[in-house]
Amino acid sequence: MAFNYKPFIEILAEKANAWRNYCICIPCKDILGRESAILKKFPNKTERIRTHLKKCEHFKNKFPEIYIELFEIEIIRVGNNEENSKKRLRRESYTSSMSWTSMYTFKLLLINLLKYLMI
Ligand SMILES: [Zn+2]
Repeated sequence: MAFNYKPFIEILAEKANAWRNYCICIPCKDILGRESAILKKFPNKTERIRTHLKKCEHFKNKFPEIYIELFEIEIIRVGNNEENSKKRLRRESYTSSMSWTSMYTFKLLLINLLKYLMI
C-alpha cells in the first residue's frame, strides 16, 4: 500500500538531479522555520522522505497517529527474529512511558488483526 507523503513535504524549485527536485519537511518548517528546514532538504524521493519522517521529531509530535501508522506497525510486523524482538522490547519499554501511544498502537493492532481475519 503506497502512502501519500505529499501533505508533509514542500517541493522546492531547486533540483536534486535531472528529474527530481529537492523538498523540505513541512513539520520541520513549521517548528524550525523555513531557513533551517532548507538546510535539511532532501530529494523528493519516497525512500528519502520516509527516512526523514522516520527520524523527524517534529513530524512525530505533530502527527503521532500517522507516525505510528507508518512506522510503529511496521516495526511490530517485522518483529519475527530474535534481533527484532529485542528491539521491540526496548521500544515497548520506551512507549510504556507514553500511555496514549501504547493505547493507540494497541488499537491499531486490533484493527489490523481484524483486517487480517477478514481476508
Ligand atoms: Zn522533519
